[in-house]
Amino acid sequence: MCGIVGYIGYRKAYPILIKGLHRLEYRGYDSAGCALVTDGGNLEIYKAKGKVADLEAAADGKDVSGELGIAHTRWATHGAPSTTNAHPHVSMSGDITLVHNGIIENYVTLRTQLEKRGYVFKSQTDTEVLVQLIEFQQKLRNCSLEVAVRYALKLAIGAYAIAVIDKKNPTRLVAARKASPLAIGIGEENKEFFLASDASPIAEYTKQIVYLNDDEVAVIERGKDLHVFTLQGEEATAEVKEVDVDLSMLDKGGYPHFMLKEIFDQPQVLRDCMRGRIVNNIYSSVTGQAHEVSLDVVLSAVSNHRRELLRARRIVIVSCGTSWHAGLIGKQLIEHFCRIPVEVAYASEFRYSDPVVDKDDVVIAISQSGETADTLAAIQLAKEKGAFVYGIVNAVGSSIARNTDTGTYIHVGPEIGVASTKAFTGQVTVLTLFSLALGMMKGTVDQQEYQDVLAELVKIPEKIEVVLKQNDKIKEIAQQYVNCRNFLYLGRGYNYPVALEGALKLKEISYIHAEGYPAAEMKHGPIALIDENMPVVFLTNHHARYQKVISNLQEVISRHGNILAIIHKDDETVKKMVQNYIEVPETISCLSPLVSVIPLQILSYHVAVARGLNVDQPRNLAKSVTVE
Ligand code: GLU
Repeated sequence: MCGIVGYIGYRKAYPILIKGLHRLEYRGYDSAGCALVTDGGNLEIYKAKGKVADLEAAADGKDVSGELGIAHTRWATHGAPSTTNAHPHVSMSGDITLVHNGIIENYVTLRTQLEKRGYVFKSQTDTEVLVQLIEFQQKLRNCSLEVAVRYALKLAIGAYAIAVIDKKNPTRLVAARKASPLAIGIGEENKEFFLASDASPIAEYTKQIVYLNDDEVAVIERGKDLHVFTLQGEEATAEVKEVDVDLSMLDKGGYPHFMLKEIFDQPQVLRDCMRGRIVNNIYSSVTGQAHEVSLDVVLSAVSNHRRELLRARRIVIVSCGTSWHAGLIGKQLIEHFCRIPVEVAYASEFRYSDPVVDKDDVVIAISQSGETADTLAAIQLAKEKGAFVYGIVNAVGSSIARNTDTGTYIHVGPEIGVASTKAFTGQVTVLTLFSLALGMMKGTVDQQEYQDVLAELVKIPEKIEVVLKQNDKIKEIAQQYVNCRNFLYLGRGYNYPVALEGALKLKEISYIHAEGYPAAEMKHGPIALIDENMPVVFLTNHHARYQKVISNLQEVISRHGNILAIIHKDDETVKKMVQNYIEVPETISCLSPLVSVIPLQILSYHVAVARGLNVDQPRNLAKSVTVE
């Protein structure tokens, strides 16, 4: 998510920082800021909600001198987008300042402890706890900035890339990372150093780049060799790579389109989405030898609203488009794990349908942007009727996040391509966590199944990586379908909403008519459409009803349908039956949407590209539908 830039050297830092932030704009963000140690030795901080241009306006006419600085584009995870919450954050003494990408999971505990020691916090962010903790450690140990950073990070749980400066010692910049990227560019003869979330802000100044590894702290001093330490304080080797970056590809992080970037972001963002929400419980046996590990879901919105959620006699999910498809998967998950009846309504229909809703209902509103007008109106109506409203939203501080009683952010980072990809898998992940947490609280979920699903869920990002490796193969298959005019997508059970989502992706960006159907329902109508010219995308990777799906597949084959099957790896039976297939790793039924939607996203992307269409901004569509 979002970006960091830093500079220490002999040139003016400010223009380098601003240019670097522009280079990182492709990552999406909601506010920006920078800190400079000026020629007069002051620490000047400028921040703005909105774009980097707004930051430039905020700094206009002010002191932007100095050869040391750090800058940031923020994509809010904790605390709404605002000038106060924008980075850099400053320690209580005003000496230390820091920018951070990532999430500090245990920030509440750390903040409470620091507040007890007199630290005063200005923002709602998780980040501010880090800068205060570094100052606390520095005072406690009377140590250098880098040592204080190491001690602070040992106490922090979560993901971070950070850049820190101390105005009392303006010859150095300290940086560290864990699970969030950070690169250091080394200028000629160590006279200057550049720091950034990726090589794009650095590439025009130097090709010598060091990518920090997890749990490493870098001490960057002008005129000196770069030193990298482990969190334990041992010196680590800084491996310098020669990096050649194609500057024309930079605005999309090296991908030709945001949509492809966002498809490929999915393994990492789903790890972010689950971060801190699936925890390991380790039990020692009485002998102190063996360990039994169990997993648990921690969703504060569920545990804090026990009463309202346990009272639910019915759940109504309201959403639109791709979020509605996620809702259909959510229905199956909640009904299975929580044994509560669930209805899934299009928000636009719900709001005008005079719905029967009362105070014993829970309404779940799902929206990527959190600004969808129809969903907002549905929430309003549900609240008027006394229902408890739970939001599942990506954009922090958005209208839906503010107007629901509680909720869970999906934390998948900004989605810029109009056709939703990573938000869908994020929503399905959160719905899985929600249903497991609520099922556990209700006592309706089988303990073993709870463990099995969680153990498998944490493996899903790796399984998605396996599918992404087939990008070239899928691209080749896509070429066969470029001139088709209609498509049918078929799936059953958990994969039926995936069929709908696959068809929607194709429609949205390739303008080819496509329909999704439950595979067995096909014989009640759509089967009449099937002939050798009708491509049928068949999701067969669903072992709970595998034999039934195979029968449905036979029905299409008998009518000479042109089949592209999504199959479990090594499913030799289906391989022999169909014209084309894409293999996906096996997983348990309820999680199969998270892997089987990936090839469908990639397929629609390549069909649209081959048709020469504007993938990121398809005609007639908007990213955030703020009109009825
Ligand atoms: N969690 C931090 C915040 O909400 C950092 C978010 C980011 O990576 O930009 O401020």
